[in-house]
Amino acid sequence: MTELRPSNPRVAPLVAYDPKSLPADTFISANESPYDMDPELKQKVLERLAALPFNRYPDPLAGKLRALIAQGYGLPGPDCVLLGNGGDELLMDLFLAYGGPERTLLNTPPTFSVYAYNALLTGTRVVDVPRRADFSLDEDAIMARAARGDIDLLVITSPNNPTGNVANVGFLRRLLESSDALVLVDEAYMEFADAGCSMTPYLGEYPNLLILRTFSKAYGLAGVRLGYVLGDPRVIRELGKVRQPYSVDSISQVLGEVVFADRTRYDARIRETRGERARLSAKLAALPRVRVFASQANFLLVRVPDAHAIWQDMYEQDSVLVRDFSATPGLEDCLRITVGSPQENDRFLQALCKQLDRRR
Ligand SMILES: *Cc1c(COP(=O)(O)O)cnc(C)c1O
Repeated sequence: MTELRPSNPRVAPLVAYDPKSLPADTFISANESPYDMDPELKQKVLERLAALPFNRYPDPLAGKLRALIAQGYGLPGPDCVLLGNGGDELLMDLFLAYGGPERTLLNTPPTFSVYAYNALLTGTRVVDVPRRADFSLDEDAIMARAARGDIDLLVITSPNNPTGNVANVGFLRRLLESSDALVLVDEAYMEFADAGCSMTPYLGEYPNLLILRTFSKAYGLAGVRLGYVLGDPRVIRELGKVRQPYSVDSISQVLGEVVFADRTRYDARIRETRGERARLSAKLAALPRVRVFASQANFLLVRVPDAHAIWQDMYEQDSVLVRDFSATPGLEDCLRITVGSPQENDRFLQALCKQLDRRR
């Protein structure tokens, strides 16, 4: 056979998600934590893993971790929580259960590209309500569009990736009240934001509110693949119908239990990241021809002239890798910098200054 039967016509034209990962000495491109797990906690995990029977399937719904998380957020029961193989898996479950042909997503670009990708893959129609020039949500336009009644699903990312700004809680509450559409608030970076920005206090109030969280960012477990959603048990039940039965392996469950139980240990790191974010932001703001956007996440979006060339030169000359968004509509000349360790941040600043000087 030289000919090959084509794939599903919905899949054939797609290009696989590319995290644009390249080896670098200063890798501040993927919004990871700069620090691996504290050795004391890692030891605890390793001891528990040594006693784990690898021949057995995992607890399908990660009951122990689910109960821990429900209790941690003061939710009525474990049926308000669903774990996934990273937040990314839950985002796919969301589109399988609430998207699909004849269904409509309201999306607010520029935002996390996975939503639009999942919509394409599942045949979900997408209505874009673009953000304003300062990346704030166009609240009136979203309310007006949702009021037409044909939206099944809205995704609002807060803090938004890659712009870093949070959504207004009062606006989200008005939206949840006015519409029966499911509203996913993606809070992957909420641990880095100021108090009062999260929608978790309102979970009991709005059955159409679903919140996504992950262990990948503030809890430094990007390599483990563990995320969760919080919501009404009726919504969680629908997601349970489409999920892969054993997607959260027993190793990840152990890691999640150990980290969630000891999550206050991470407060110091989160404080450091917030402090570094402020320091980096002030240094960037002082540079000529650089615009830095306010961020509540563990990254900063900057606009610099000739961004793509600067991105490439910083990588090739100084092995500093940041994320290039300059080809994304609305993000022309934008780069996203993950807040790293103080040393990484200094190396980035030095590399950027060098490139700006060269181009004076
Ligand atoms: C990182 C991220 C996620 C989830 O990441 P996982 O590693 O799959 O848990 C979800 N939403 C946004 C906006 C993110 O940036």
